[in-house]
Amino acid sequence: MTACDHAGATYRASPNFGPRRDSKTPDMILLHYTGMSSGDAALGRLCDLSAEVSSHYLVFEDGRIMQLVAEQQRAWHAGASSWKGESDINSLSIGIEIVNPGHEIGIVDYPAEQIAAVIALCGDIVQRHCVPAERILAHSDVAPGRKLDPGEHFPWDELHRNGVGHWIEPSSIRGGRFFSVGDCGEPIEALQSMLALYGYGIEIDGVFDEKMRAVIEAFQRHFRQERVDGVADQSTIETLHRLLSAQSSL
Ligand SMILES: [Zn+2]
Repeated sequence: MTACDHAGATYRASPNFGPRRDSKTPDMILLHYTGMSSGDAALGRLCDLSAEVSSHYLVFEDGRIMQLVAEQQRAWHAGASSWKGESDINSLSIGIEIVNPGHEIGIVDYPAEQIAAVIALCGDIVQRHCVPAERILAHSDVAPGRKLDPGEHFPWDELHRNGVGHWIEPSSIRGGRFFSVGDCGEPIEALQSMLALYGYGIEIDGVFDEKMRAVIEAFQRHFRQERVDGVADQSTIETLHRLLSAQSSL
């Protein structure tokens, strides 16, 4: 029986892992939803050699936590990703899969027991690995346009109230100037610079293209959940600005 890194977990070994590269140690937590019909189906896939995917933890709807890969190892959950210029997110992060059918099958609200377990697990990992609040991220943050999880119903505000993650009350939605696909120029360049400064993988070329739209959507999905439309409205830009000002590690 392997000992769990997190006291509240039970162990079920996945064969899908390798060593962290370049002697990297984790300083990021990446949150996912499983996007499958049930927790057991997800567990089966995360432990299936031929699936070549895994995560360090799996959190069930009732709050049960299963550890699948030791924290010191590199689990395979991020795929092609980028944050703050780093692309080997698997080597830098601890991956947590949260059981939820997801957008494709039909996203459901995360039960309170499950969120309480995620908060306890993240709090413990943050303590043991000194993970900065702004490095507790959504899969969609590091892979915009490719991934949507854990989705716009995930309660990042509640995590933050419990001391987990970086979040501020979003600015209210109202009229005014906004930017969307097709716009270009200095304001777009400035906005791209702000997104890149926060960590998003985005080219700074002054052109609001489909890739930028995906990044704006990812930002909204995490920080301005009321409207996720890929349009950089006043509320989105202000919220980003205030997040940057409130960042601890810049
Ligand atoms: Zn994911």
